[in-house]
Amino acid sequence: MSGKARINPGDIKLLAMDVDGVLTDGTIILDGAGGESKRFSLHDGHGIKLWHRAGLETALISGRESAATTARARQLSIKHVMQGQKKKLPAFESLLAETGLSAGQVAYIGDDLLDVPVVVRAGLGVAVANAVDELKERADMVTNSCGGAGAVREVIEYILKNTGRWDELMERYLV
Ligand SMILES: [Mg+2]
Repeated sequence: MSGKARINPGDIKLLAMDVDGVLTDGTIILDGAGGESKRFSLHDGHGIKLWHRAGLETALISGRESAATTARARQLSIKHVMQGQKKKLPAFESLLAETGLSAGQVAYIGDDLLDVPVVVRAGLGVAVANAVDELKERADMVTNSCGGAGAVREVIEYILKNTGRWDELMERYLV
């Protein structure tokens, strides 16, 4: 992660994410029948499980509508799933209303132009390494990893390690 957070990472209670280009590498695989597949990182998935174990919440805000996204969200017990959101800021505002959180308590990770207003509004706005320049210029922080290749895990580790939660979470793994 490079850049500087405007807020204390300890304030973050919810990690909201775009899907395509953040949890995936931004490609979709289409079959002849119109079925759509996506490729997700297991490192990101495990990171999300650690995040939940720390008592923190997650949300997806996707511009597209996809059964693969629904399936992945179900696998990872992601509570707030908003798809088909062509304008992401209203979706983000309704997420705040639903959770009772302020924008300063939310981190958001994006990769493309649709994500700009939410990255600017969120307490911690993050762009993935291969995000478009317009987003990277406006983000608080930019990941070293690309979307679909550990960028989400990197943000999760950054927040958990900077709030003293990481060592406790590692107790069950490390001998
Ligand atoms: Mg995207």
